[in-house]
Amino acid sequence: MNAQKQWMLRTLIILSAAMLTPEVCRAMEFVVDGRPAAKVVIPDDANPVTALAAEVLVRYVAESTGAKLEIVSEKDAGGSGERIFLGATAAAQTAGVDVSKIKYDGFIWKTVGNDLIIAGRDVPFASAKGKNNLQSACHGTARGVYRLLEDYGGVRWLLPTPKGVVVPKAERFSVPDGIDRREEPLFAYTLGLSNFGEWSLANGQRRAVDVLTLGHSWDGALREAGDPKALFDKEPERFALIDGKRHYTPHNFQLCSSHPDFINISVQYFSKLFDKGHQWVEYNQADGWRRCECGRCNAMDRLDELEKEIGAYWNREADPSDKTRAPAERLWVPFGKIAERLYKKYPDHKIVPLAYHPTFIPSQAVKHFPPNVMIAMTREYPGLFEQFSGFDKTIWAYWWGAYHVSGLTPNMMAHQVIPHLNLLVDQDVLGVYSCGGGALWGLEGGAYYVYSKLSWNPTLDPDAVLDDYYRGVYHAAAPEMKRFFDLIESRVTVGKDTQTVKQRAHNLYNRSVAVYFPEAYPPAVLANLDSILAQAKAKAAGDDLAGQWLALTELQYRYLKIVANGFTLYREYRFSRNKTPALRGELAAAIEARESFIAEVTELKQKKEWLTDWFPGAGTYMATLPTGGSCYATLNAGPPFGGSFAQELTK
Ligand SMILES: [Zn+2]
Repeated sequence: MNAQKQWMLRTLIILSAAMLTPEVCRAMEFVVDGRPAAKVVIPDDANPVTALAAEVLVRYVAESTGAKLEIVSEKDAGGSGERIFLGATAAAQTAGVDVSKIKYDGFIWKTVGNDLIIAGRDVPFASAKGKNNLQSACHGTARGVYRLLEDYGGVRWLLPTPKGVVVPKAERFSVPDGIDRREEPLFAYTLGLSNFGEWSLANGQRRAVDVLTLGHSWDGALREAGDPKALFDKEPERFALIDGKRHYTPHNFQLCSSHPDFINISVQYFSKLFDKGHQWVEYNQADGWRRCECGRCNAMDRLDELEKEIGAYWNREADPSDKTRAPAERLWVPFGKIAERLYKKYPDHKIVPLAYHPTFIPSQAVKHFPPNVMIAMTREYPGLFEQFSGFDKTIWAYWWGAYHVSGLTPNMMAHQVIPHLNLLVDQDVLGVYSCGGGALWGLEGGAYYVYSKLSWNPTLDPDAVLDDYYRGVYHAAAPEMKRFFDLIESRVTVGKDTQTVKQRAHNLYNRSVAVYFPEAYPPAVLANLDSILAQAKAKAAGDDLAGQWLALTELQYRYLKIVANGFTLYREYRFSRNKTPALRGELAAAIEARESFIAEVTELKQKKEWLTDWFPGAGTYMATLPTGGSCYATLNAGPPFGGSFAQELTK
């Protein structure tokens, strides 16, 4: 653990000790007997980011107590009463709180006399061009306000809908006197679960630097040079030579990286993005990269000769221990030149190539990249981190998303994400982009919540955070739902263990749905889950809020059951039971059950208000349902739910 992490840990421990003994402290009152007892002070030239923090504080204190605190500019802040200074006020400066010295969107709370200072860096991003959404700025002060509302108002943002916010009612809002607290996050950004409005910002899913997690950047660079099809017609040699022919696709362009103009087009493209205000921008070759067969490309590395010996290893899973693999210098060398040119013009901006398939292996040809280069890891193997030692790193994390074999069923539960997060902390990763997540709040909501909280502060106790979530969402049924999700968590592990060595060598996430589901969710497990859910519903009877959240969980669980049941029957059909009319009938019913489930969920589109309140992620969920997912999760391509299997049953 490095010094900074130790410092953060120590700070938090001292604070929690102080918070256990509030009775020794005088309280600072915001609201007494339902009446305002303090005013909110913002800098005279407050920017919209600080103004938003003030609005959040006033709105939630009012919702809790009914009292609306007044917001005043610092020049009008005199007079009697207690004051809450937000952002970069002169009062904060006088008290020694220099917001420019706070890391990322961390914050400071400090009591000075009768006043409380809450301050962090409030910086609108230039690239957002004044758009005031929650992701378009570094929201230090708002982060401090959200934490205050959580710690002293009991407010929780559990699920990203109006009903998912818990605001306890009170006559009084107060904080202990003598507060002196500083919180600074480890990560510059945590994206992926960041598009859920206030849920995201309140729970620490945000960006404190203007990062553009672009992924593959070749398309953008080529489009910067002109119309891709016209360019292809005029200069086909810009595109990769594949099977003896220059290769054009309408998107995901496979380019010849040794073409004389290749470096120029990327430099132009990234210059434009930096000019727009982005500070860190990702760079990467096209997805599913294809090797250009031209002589100039082949002269740069050993890929063509190695392909004859060991195959196209750059399409397979990373293997840091395989020394027979050689780096794709045809990608690294031009990238190094792009980075050098950008460094001269934009020394303070970062360009972040993805270590992804052909670039899983670091360059040997480029001895020194300029200091503007960071690496976006796309795998979490410690050996791979070691190979890229010397670089600052960010990561693409593949923890959730319907491209996994689990499709629209849970892929990673709360405790399962913790070791992944801890590894990123240990490896000093600077930012996390979680690819996928947010489609399955009824089943993965607790995992999203725990991950979000711990990605801001990894020293939190995940079980305490999870218990808080269960109590806030399922009320009296919390103990049953804890058992329900613990059981699902253990079954996800069993399902994932079905991966074969061959699948793993191909891709870390490659698994078979036909094997995964019957192993993860056999009938006895489903019966157990059914029974726990029935107990939970009985416990929550008459409780509308808990009942509604249970309904979302049950809906998404019913789908899991339908899919698991279908695959279990299909396995019996193939391997163990005779293909009797009875079994054929059960399979036909399973196929039918999935179809009517899809129809039932599609029908919910009519209930717009209900969806807004009680079905976060409905859009993604509904859009994914007809296929069941993509990549390893596609259900409509093969038996039992897809292909021509339904017809086969009737033969
Ligand atoms: Zn080429």
